Amino acid sequence: MFLKKKYDKAGPLVAKELEKRGFDAYYVSTKEEAKDKVLSMIPEGSSVAWGGSMTLNETGIKDAIKAGNYTVIDRETAQPFTDEWMAIMRQALTSDFFLMSSNAITEDGQLVNIDGLGNRVAALCFGPKEVIVVSGMNKVVCSLDDAWERARNFASPLNSQRYENLANPCVVTGMCSDCKSQQSICSQFVVTRLVKNKRVKVVLVGEDLGF
Ligand code: SF4
Repeated sequence: MFLKKKYDKAGPLVAKELEKRGFDAYYVSTKEEAKDKVLSMIPEGSSVAWGGSMTLNETGIKDAIKAGNYTVIDRETAQPFTDEWMAIMRQALTSDFFLMSSNAITEDGQLVNIDGLGNRVAALCFGPKEVIVVSGMNKVVCSLDDAWERARNFASPLNSQRYENLANPCVVTGMCSDCKSQQSICSQFVVTRLVKNKRVKVVLVGEDLGF
């Protein structure tokens, strides 16, 4: 109950900090509101793609997009790392809307993300016409140092657990050992300090979502 109160008080303030950096930013209290908000931002007929995200699953946003009147660019329709899959990943970079979450968000409005292949952070930086970032308030931290700590030592080892066939040390130990494996999910480290023309929108949600 107190955590929820904290989220509802801090969320709108973090959204204001994001606005100062050029993001279009919103705070909503629940994941149901988040889904409605995201759907209201995407005109029917748009092409929509996404990066790997537990948050998009938990909010029901992906299912709603699949059921709606959109051109869906869904990499899950192909086997990972096949030519077909890579073609879908490239197509996603020219979508109208790219949906993702963030590994961490600082209270002063910066996004921190780590990516294995780079497709998700590539889309965040440039490519799709618009990007919508959906993030639970559990990912908001005080400083950039805290954001890197969260992304490297919490989110990435947890994300690795989703891929048990990856031979990364963190899959076995649950901890990051700064591996240099070709299968590492930690290749590209990106801070989004500022965005231009409101291209990136952030929907902060007053719940714990993803990791
Ligand atoms: S062990 Fe490797 S893959 Fe796992 S979190 Fe650390 S750098 Fe990333």
